[in-house]
Amino acid sequence: MSEKYDVIVVGAGNAGLVAAATTAKNGLKTLLLEKHNLPGGCATSFRRGRFEFEPSLHELASVGDKEHPDTVYKIFDNLGATVDWRYEHNTFRAIVKGCDGYDVTLQAGIDPFCDAMEAAVPGCRASVHRLFEYYPKVTDALAYITRMKGKPNGLVMITKHADFMKIASHSVEDVMKSLGIPEKARNIINTYWGYLGVPTDELNCMHFLNMLYSYVVHGAAMPYKRSHELSLSLAKVILDAGGEIRYNSEATEFLYDGNGAVCGVVANGETLFAKEVISNVIPHNVFNMSDPKNIPETDLKLANARTFGISVSTIYLGLDCSMEELGIHDYTVFVMTDANPRKQYDDRKNKSLYIVNCLNKVIPDSSPEGTCTMFFTMPTFGCDVPKDLKPEDYKKYKNRLAEEYIEDYEKLMGIDMRSHIEEISIATPVTFARYLGTPEGTIYGYALSGWDNILGRISCEKDEYTIKGLSFCGGHAFRGDGYSSAYVTGDTIGHRVVNSIKGGN
Ligand SMILES: Cc1cc2nc3c(=O)[nH]c(=O)nc-3n(C[C@H](O)[C@H](O)[C@H](O)COP(=O)(O)OP(=O)(O)OC[C@H]3O[C@@H](n4cnc5c(N)ncnc54)[C@H](O)[C@@H]3O)c2cc1C
Repeated sequence: MSEKYDVIVVGAGNAGLVAAATTAKNGLKTLLLEKHNLPGGCATSFRRGRFEFEPSLHELASVGDKEHPDTVYKIFDNLGATVDWRYEHNTFRAIVKGCDGYDVTLQAGIDPFCDAMEAAVPGCRASVHRLFEYYPKVTDALAYITRMKGKPNGLVMITKHADFMKIASHSVEDVMKSLGIPEKARNIINTYWGYLGVPTDELNCMHFLNMLYSYVVHGAAMPYKRSHELSLSLAKVILDAGGEIRYNSEATEFLYDGNGAVCGVVANGETLFAKEVISNVIPHNVFNMSDPKNIPETDLKLANARTFGISVSTIYLGLDCSMEELGIHDYTVFVMTDANPRKQYDDRKNKSLYIVNCLNKVIPDSSPEGTCTMFFTMPTFGCDVPKDLKPEDYKKYKNRLAEEYIEDYEKLMGIDMRSHIEEISIATPVTFARYLGTPEGTIYGYALSGWDNILGRISCEKDEYTIKGLSFCGGHAFRGDGYSSAYVTGDTIGHRVVNSIKGGN
């Protein structure tokens, strides 16, 4: 008879790590299973030659610092996970090419941000400022809805949270227009859509405001030693609390008892039982690893009704010169061919939007002295990769992709990168599908658009998946994509499972 755990967490991504750390710290016998030989999922690092690359993290939202801790800081602090945070105090530089284009750099801090907006679009300051005044009011409503477990009192919503009711169901564009923010200013601010993968005429404004506010108020945070530092610090919490982590352990089957409740998993041919299973793995894959007779029709329909979120293509460059020698001065640059987010989204196969980061700007010694690293990211869906691409042509496809984007950036910035490339690595949705195991290589779980927006997810999540003994956390869960959302879902689900097993509220 196999050992029985209180909790098995499948997947050591950001959310799985926090969930396992939470259950282990609260005295539950916890097993974390990870198919790779190291923790983190997206939150990891990899080496090429003398360079250690950050594979995913551009900017972590909702961190704050010791004096002004935001959600992520508090989650790590409560768990006792230590991280050496570094901060970037510009939000981004946005360059739209062409004669009607612009080149704007925005600072963190509401007033500096609004000042930079006013300089770029004279007359827009007051309307942009109103957007930031709105946000604290609407978050109170969100906190209330969460406290009420998705079932708020209608009268309370109307009387106490009228501002929330006014904007909650609208898109970013609708809300910004109603606040009188001019089109050019909207386009500049909405450059950030690229981080959420849904264009702003479709994206729920609460979702966007949450990210915007966090980046503008606190600036973005990065761990000193790549996101691997975050994952290792959480793994340490699990081990220190007596939890067990098994790497190279891919769950291949979810097990159900006679009442249709999940009671364990099979990994490496071993049957492992638990009172509760937490999945950091996307529901689609869990259902494919389950006997179909155990999946309630509503759960299956829900999963199938959702659309997979966006993925990315990326280029990682290790250069044999410093960023100053190269002529790079920014951490994050968004390059666009058209100012309008919808056009950027629709035309994404034609270099309509890409993001370039230089980590040395925030962490000067993140590469050996006299060198720097550059990180290109292009929004790409799995279906954007040509369907008829043959395995033997894949390398050529990746190299052409890299060549095109690097050349484009060189021309735009008037710099020479190609003669300084010492190491290069290129990833596509195929890479992310293979590494993370997600359908179509989605890095953002399910797209948060239309009916499946952030509000619907938060309000309905307790009723969504109905299988007893099984909970989901991760970028595919109720808070959507991104590091901070994954940590929040790991924290919420971890505590919920502690309460369910130990009793309490
Ligand atoms: C290139 C790139 C750039 C990004 N930039 C940012 C950014 O700047 N800011 C931001 O906030 N977010 C960013 N993201 C998104 C962010 O990384 C993800 O939304 C978030 O990390 C998802 O976390 P997760 O917990 O869902 O786990 P994932 O990272 O998806 O990890 C899931 C884990 O489960 C494991 N697993 C899967 N199947 C099994 C199985 N059957 N058995 C055992 N283990 C299994 C996987 O190996 C993996 O370790 C980026 C992502 C990428 C790829």
